[in-house]
Amino acid sequence: MPSFVITEKCDGCAGQDKTACMYICPHDLMTLNKDTRKAVNQEPEQCWECYSCVKICPQQAIEIRCYADFAPLGGSVIPLPGSDSIMWTVKFRNGTIKRFKFPTRTVNPGEVDIFAGEGAAEADLSKIKDQGFFTHQAKGSQLPVPA
Ligand code: SF4
Ligand code: SF4
Repeated sequence: MPSFVITEKCDGCAGQDKTACMYICPHDLMTLNKDTRKAVNQEPEQCWECYSCVKICPQQAIEIRCYADFAPLGGSVIPLPGSDSIMWTVKFRNGTIKRFKFPTRTVNPGEVDIFAGEGAAEADLSKIKDQGFFTHQAKGSQLPVPA
């Protein structure tokens, strides 16, 4: 079920050139209504339900529509990120509440060096002998470093 924005809580990530939910959505679904300055999931049917926008929103203004087998009966799944962990609060249909806490990376959004330690990709197709992966390096081989 797709994400949705609680407009009363959303402040449009005031002062930012791009909203947090627009930055993080892997499917580019989140957009900002220029008139209302509120975020909106522009194509809910395309939502992966990955919870990324829910977790990154500084106002806790985004929720995921939970599945119909438990949401109408009062169930919910709410993540609350902290500085070094994330707490998931799961409310079951019978009212039972359980909380699960997991450690998270401490890298701030946008600061991850995704190629760190991986070297440069091989661009000379004539040197490719077989199929492989970017992260796979033959023993003793040296990948070229871009100038
Ligand atoms: S991240 Fe949250 S506060 Fe910022 S624009 Fe999106 S919904 Fe609104
Ligand atoms: S749940 Fe994931 S795919 Fe859906 S709008 Fe949020 S970030 Fe995008």
